[in-house]
Amino acid sequence: MTIVGVTKGHAVEIVRKARALGLRHLGESRIQEATDKYGFSEFLNDPERPTLHLIGHLQSNKARKAVHLFDSIDSLDSVHLGETLDRLAAEQDKTLRVLIQVNTSGEAQKSGCETEQALELVEAVKSMSHLELRGLMTIGPLEGDEKATRRSFELLREIRERVAREANFPQLAELSMGMSGDFEWAIEEGATEIRLGTVLWGPREEYD
Ligand SMILES: *Cc1c(COP(=O)(O)O)cnc(C)c1O
Repeated sequence: MTIVGVTKGHAVEIVRKARALGLRHLGESRIQEATDKYGFSEFLNDPERPTLHLIGHLQSNKARKAVHLFDSIDSLDSVHLGETLDRLAAEQDKTLRVLIQVNTSGEAQKSGCETEQALELVEAVKSMSHLELRGLMTIGPLEGDEKATRRSFELLREIRERVAREANFPQLAELSMGMSGDFEWAIEEGATEIRLGTVLWGPREEYD
């Protein structure tokens, strides 16, 4: 089980705290905020540093910065964005780990591809040579009870199994699902990565 410590909404001191805790994976949602915290060569060139995950929606015009800063883009949600990331990763001589974000709750304000688009997206991304497609990501319903939340996680697991079979791509190992309010259910539904902010360091203060 991988824990991604989500440092968004906290001032830069959080980086020291997170590293002192020994977390090997850290997540941020926005490029500017992430650059303020992690965009320094002392951090980026440190061989011991944690893996950085982008967990928020990425606009193509910020993709160059994202490729420079992050090791993993966990919110890939369109073929177009995949093509942009693949080209920029090639330019920066880098292989970028990616997860495809799927909107399993059907909530309209949520980013992520529709469940019916997941297969097509996997088919496209699996052949992009500078992207290493590792799995799927989802955010549980914002207003969900236990049943609806578990259902959205179960759906992600089902999509992984179906898509891995139909796209002949068994490498979709990771399921990133579960946040502070629902990680226990996510683990029971098969999460391999959970993304925790509030439960680790309390309510968010700065930036939002
Ligand atoms: C903010 C955020 C988290 C962490 O949320 P908490 O409820 O504070 O644990 C996890 N995943 C995503 C995609 C987020 O935007």
